[in-house]
Amino acid sequence: MLLGVIADDMTGATDVALMLNRAGMRTVQVIGAPAEGASLPDADAVVVALKSRTNPVEEAIADSLAACEALLAAGARQILFKYCSTFDSTERGNIGPVADALMERLGARQAIVCPAFPANGRSIFNGYLFVGEVPLHESSMKDHPLTPMRDSSLVRLMGAQAKHPVGLVSYATVKQGVDAVSKRLAELEQDGRRYVVTDALDNDHLMVLGAAIADHVLLTGGSGIAMGLPENFRKAGLLPNRETASHLAAAAGRPGIISGSCSTATRGQIRQALEAGIPALKVDPLALASGTQTAAELADWALAQPQDKPFLVYSSDDPAEVAAVQQKLGRERAGAIVEEAFAELARRLVAGGVSRLLVAGGETSGAVVQGLSIRTLEIGPEIDPGVPWTRVVEGPELVVALKSGNFGAPDFFLKAWSLLR
Ligand code: ADP
Repeated sequence: MLLGVIADDMTGATDVALMLNRAGMRTVQVIGAPAEGASLPDADAVVVALKSRTNPVEEAIADSLAACEALLAAGARQILFKYCSTFDSTERGNIGPVADALMERLGARQAIVCPAFPANGRSIFNGYLFVGEVPLHESSMKDHPLTPMRDSSLVRLMGAQAKHPVGLVSYATVKQGVDAVSKRLAELEQDGRRYVVTDALDNDHLMVLGAAIADHVLLTGGSGIAMGLPENFRKAGLLPNRETASHLAAAAGRPGIISGSCSTATRGQIRQALEAGIPALKVDPLALASGTQTAAELADWALAQPQDKPFLVYSSDDPAEVAAVQQKLGRERAGAIVEEAFAELARRLVAGGVSRLLVAGGETSGAVVQGLSIRTLEIGPEIDPGVPWTRVVEGPELVVALKSGNFGAPDFFLKAWSLLR
């Protein structure tokens, strides 16, 4: 293995794994912190998906260090700590403290801080993070329920969370190329700046940065920064030229869709699927709570549908309906009831012969993956930006696509199947 990635959430892990796969590294995603001594699958890059974005900081550090040990033991030469391209965190972390712990473990003298992902509108200019055309603190992230982002200066944000001083390599330097960036990084290191925010407005900048940090043992950032890394390994003669597969071989079996995502993009995708005549069953969280609807009934309905096209089981609803349900059940209980039902539904579907599964929703995906005891996913072709088909490596014969709520075009549920063979 060449590159080890520690990702602070599930769909973010899939996102970076896809980025590496497309750039020519055979990439596998492992779910959860590996147990001590556990061996990792053989691949060019392994991404460990943690749930460490918002859990207690000590737990996030312990899980990240455990992942780091397993990746080093498997031969990783470079570690990328992957977090969200909107730097989702609070004043206490967990990005800073986890980066500090990894820096210490790896003996890294310097690490860049680069959440930029220009293809998705996340750019960094003079150290300020933009979402589309607005600074981070003016974007919808300012009202995030768990990690409201009220500042856009990455130098300040990282400085408040991490132990070491933070410097900046600005756009003016990045556009001069690799040598200029390397020189500036060395100057900043002399000056004690062990973290360095790096500007990036487009993919060319990410490639320059990737080349400039070929020798850094630790990197931190979003999935964008992964773009330039495979080329370093190729140049060093460590990585052969690999073709990106355009299709994934999937076992014969039935296709199905589960959606617990209430995001705008998902609701549009559901509308298109309904218009296209996909058999669909809407789940009522209140009926699940009272026991008048059960996961077993949902599975029985799904398995009774025609086998030659996908079915859709969804709880997705518009904000007013979701708010009404949350008022009655409580926000967390409503979420947990639906997630538990979908985890149980997924188990029953796979037992009933479903071997191709689309899941919409970040938390929903986490619940389904856990329900199916999936530990390892091999990354396949991209359906839409950030969402690949993946194959379960050990466990049921199954291919799954885990779609984060706001990802995917309106025809996502219809077109995804054409990438399977
Ligand atoms: P997204 O990626 O779109 O944010 P998630 O799966 O991460 O989707 O989050 C959706 C959350 O909403 C989950 O906890 C899910 O169980 C919950 N949920 C789904 N449908 C409903 C509904 N009709 N009413 C209330 N909560 C719901």
